[in-house]
Amino acid sequence: MSTRESAESSSAGAHGRVRIVVVGAAGRMGARICALANDDDRFEIGAALEREGSPAIGRTITPHAGGRPGPVVQKTPENPAFSGVHAVIDFSSAAGLHSSIAIARASRSALLVGTTGLPDDARAALKSASRDLAVLLAANTSLGVAALGRLVRDAAAMLGPGYECSIVEAHHNQKKDAPSGTALRLAERAIEGGSPLRPDQVVSVRGGDVIGEHTVRFAGAGEYIELTHRATSRDLFARGALVAAAWLKGRPAGWYTVEDVLGLGSR
Ligand code: NAD
Repeated sequence: MSTRESAESSSAGAHGRVRIVVVGAAGRMGARICALANDDDRFEIGAALEREGSPAIGRTITPHAGGRPGPVVQKTPENPAFSGVHAVIDFSSAAGLHSSIAIARASRSALLVGTTGLPDDARAALKSASRDLAVLLAANTSLGVAALGRLVRDAAAMLGPGYECSIVEAHHNQKKDAPSGTALRLAERAIEGGSPLRPDQVVSVRGGDVIGEHTVRFAGAGEYIELTHRATSRDLFARGALVAAAWLKGRPAGWYTVEDVLGLGSR
């Protein structure tokens, strides 16, 4: 059994369904998370929430043929307590994240944050919430990117500072933050491995409908090594988010990463 499958079965299978609240439910990611969770008996959607004014409010998330009826998208409520919720999943915005923290606190649930480009105050609020809640911040919920992070750190350590590191990331033209949260995390991994990576060597390209591409290059005298990850489906991230939410169910308060879910460790 893979680390991903075992993380999923140990947390979800043995103790009944994982009940989730999805914040940003009508977005590109939120909609896929709701659709996949709705089609999977291991999950139950406690609420699908959107910002005030979203045209999705009042609409039903369409189930697949023969699937369970989908939830109706609701406005993020004034009273944030939901009963029996195991994990709040946030793929929204910095403003949405503040609601997600309030919901997770009031519902005594874990919090999985996939939203990137968070300002310092939002990150500080999350860190403080992790004293009372299980919090997982994942700029990228794919197994391949977690493995890439490990490879980048190890390559930086093996090659030493004589090899110049650079990161190029490409995304669709609707993406709000640049560089991507994933590129920043990969940069941290290169620096952990001893690479003197300069901020101007992390470059972003925006255009079309690219789901996500990250290339880390180590250039030496007469050679270079490139490590590339390409996402070919947004469902990759949505499935990873559900695996992480199942893993978070019942975890003690603390700060977790997707590497912890996959048993790779952050170090
Ligand atoms: P999107 O713009 O399609 O969706 C965001 C949704 O959040 C929208 O429907 C919006 O109405 C809703 N929203 C905004 N503020 C809200 C609030 N206050 N309350 C409730 N809902 C609110 O964006 P997307 O492509 O789905 O990406 C969302 C976030 O996830 C971005 O930060 C993106 O970078 C990140 N992302 C992370 C991963 C990952 O693996 N962690 C993968 C893809 C995208």
